[in-house]
Order: sequence, then C-alpha cells, then structure tokens
Amino acid sequence: MSVLIQGGLVATCDAEHRVFEGDIAVEGGKIVGLGEAARAALPSPEQVIDARGKAVLPGLVQGHIHLVQTLFRGLADDVPLLTWLRRYIWPLEFAHDDRSLQASAELGLAELLRGGTTTLLDMGTVHGHDVVLDACARSGIRALSGKAMMDQGEGAPAGMLEDTRAGLREAERLARAWPNRPDALVRYAICPRFVLSCTEEMLRGCAALSQETGALLHTHAAEQVEERAAVRALLGTDDLSALAGCGVTGPRAVFAHGVHLDDDEIHAIAAAGTAIVHCPSSNLKLGSGVARVADLLRAGVRVGLGADGAPCNNNLDGFQELRLAALLSKMKAGTSSLPAREALHLATLGGARALGLEHLVGSIEAGKRADLVVLDLQDLHTAPAVDLFSTLVYACQSRDVRHVLVDGRQVVRDGELLTLDAPRVAAEAREQARRIARKAGVA
Ligand SMILES: [Zn+2]
Repeated sequence: MSVLIQGGLVATCDAEHRVFEGDIAVEGGKIVGLGEAARAALPSPEQVIDARGKAVLPGLVQGHIHLVQTLFRGLADDVPLLTWLRRYIWPLEFAHDDRSLQASAELGLAELLRGGTTTLLDMGTVHGHDVVLDACARSGIRALSGKAMMDQGEGAPAGMLEDTRAGLREAERLARAWPNRPDALVRYAICPRFVLSCTEEMLRGCAALSQETGALLHTHAAEQVEERAAVRALLGTDDLSALAGCGVTGPRAVFAHGVHLDDDEIHAIAAAGTAIVHCPSSNLKLGSGVARVADLLRAGVRVGLGADGAPCNNNLDGFQELRLAALLSKMKAGTSSLPAREALHLATLGGARALGLEHLVGSIEAGKRADLVVLDLQDLHTAPAVDLFSTLVYACQSRDVRHVLVDGRQVVRDGELLTLDAPRVAAEAREQARRIARKAGVA
C-alpha cells in the first residue's frame, strides 16, 4: 500500500526540530520521501490524504500505560497511591477474566489510537496477558506490553500473588511468543510491578530474562514519599538501589514516574542509561508530586511521557500529558525550563528513545516506519495557529486528530477508528466494568 500525505504543515520532530510544508510519501509501511522528494518517490500513490491546512506530526509515544485498568476509570478516585492499589486496583485486577481483560484493553487501545498515540509501553496484571497482547495486535497499534510480575505484597488479594518460578516461566513463554524483533508491531516487555510487590528472586529473574531475550524491563520507581519509605522499612535501602542491586537498571530499563529523585540518584540513572517516563496527570491525581524533568534532561536521562492507567488520570490522552508536562515544568523549574518544542520531543522522538525505538519511530524522516498523525488546526480552540509548536503543545486536544497511520496502515480516518468498533467497545466496557466492580466488591 502506498500513501501520499499531501500539503500538510509537518513537524518532523527530528533532532533539529525541522518544520516544512509539503508532502510525505509512504510505501511498504515506511516513509520513503519528504517534500519534493515525496512526489518523485511516489508518482502514482494508491491513496492520497489531503493534509492542506492541517498539521502532520509523528504518532505520539506513551511510555507508561495500564490497558487492563481502563475499565476501572472513575472507580478509584481521590485516594493516595498505596490505598489506591490495595483497596481498589489490586482487587479489581484480580477480578478480571478474559472477557473483561479484552474489554479493558480494547477501550484503552481505541482511546489511544483515536487520540493520536501510536506507540505504547504497557504493564498488565498478573494473569491473562495473552488476551491483552492479542487485542494490541488486532488494534494495529505499536506496543511493548507485559504481564505484571508480583510474588509478594502487603494488601494484595491472596490469590493474586504468584509463585516466583511460575511467574517467570509465564513471562518467558510470552516473551518467546512475542519476540523483540524489529519488524514486530507487538513485542513483549518484562514488567516487575514495583519493589514492594517483588522478591529479590523475582527481580533478579526478570533482569536475567531481559538479558536473555532483549525485552525491555519496565517498572515503577520513586513515585511517592510513602512508597519509598515503605521500601526502606522493608529492605533497609531505597527502591532505586534495590532495583539496581538486582540488575533492574541500564539501557533496557524503563522506570515510570521518578518523581522523588535527589541529585545523586538523577546522576546514577543517567550513568546507568535507565530511562524515565514522566506521568504528569497521574502524579497530580495521586498527589505524588512533580518530577524534575528539566534536571533529568540536563543530566542526559532519556525521558518519555505516559498517561499511566485510566483510574489515576482519568484519560489516556497524549496531548493532555504533553500540555501538562510543559506547564508543570514551568512551576518546578521556571517558565523557560521546557519550551514547547522540547516538550513535544518528550512525546515523540524522546519517548521513542526512552523505549529504544528511535531507529524506527518518533520522528518524520525518510527510512523510518510511517507512524503519523494528521491534526486539524482550524477549530476555535486552536485558531489562529500562528506558531506550530505552540499550537501543538498548548492548544491542541486529542479530538483534533483526523487521521492516524501506524506502520503505514491507516487506523483512523476522519476521526473514525477503523480497526475497532468504537460504539461496541464503549458498550462492552460499560457492561464489563459493572460486572468486575461487583465481583471485586468495589462498587
Ligand atoms: Zn503505573
């Protein structure tokens, strides 16, 4: 399939933040020409997308999502992290079965794709993760996704905690079924939940499996003061040292949050090459604090953005996270600390780099995979759209997304999702959410 995206104002989000007005040629899932070279590369395209008067940008990358929690939107509001987990999220996750897992994943995937997110790193629950990976594959999104690893933890439902060896065997089976191949849209990621829910044996096993399979290691770290204190009380050391001591660190490790990091920890993360995913909405809603994004970037840490799970946000809207990241940095580190184009970098090439995917996606450059978003900038809340970066970061909303391509395949056309039936997904989510909340004793 060949596609010519014609006449858009293109934010390439490449290393030089280049912008141009013109065409993008896509063939075989890949960007094969830009500007003048696009027409030469594709003299008779099979499909033409008219982007005149619209913006084109790389698909957004969200580096921390919980698809299995989308169904719990609105079921766990206004409480701090550990209460949020113990009273609501773990009982709800434990109550999931295949049907509710599919409903939850599809709801999240539909919202993400229609809102212009084309790549995600996702942490599931302990069981049933085949269903989530299959849903990712059917949706057409680019996903790194893995089951949560949990073999200990105060307050978790007894049956939720897994035998360490059995959990690692299951992760290995899934990692082999969804291997870390460059041409694979869906790949497995190894996801120890956080230090409090994993024994040392589990963390070491996860690190070894990542080493063996090349799969990313994804966990939560330094999210909240109370959580860090609980780790110190349990282990006599902090969460970052505990993770590093077990090998959960380095270029294949991606930590969600990193809110409470001192200077030494930031330098240690930079030196190790570990990536951080900033989750501004989640950090605000759970009262966690504001991450030191400008300091992390200055230290050379790879930083991406993520919406986290629906019950701590409550949307999965990449444009909201982008705007909030830019705004919060002004409060944390000054009004010039994260200008619009630098903020956009976190949601695109920077986010791709955090996930080790920068050679494939994150910017609009010839040779990269065609993960592209076309946005309408003519609505009241974006007009007059005189500065592209300003408009994209501070004014745009996910509802401005008109077209989305992932790997050259169109998954959203004129705001309509093509790969999932949105009304059916929403109806099924309503039914399954009610059933699972009752089963978990939460509603
Ligand atoms: Zn999370």
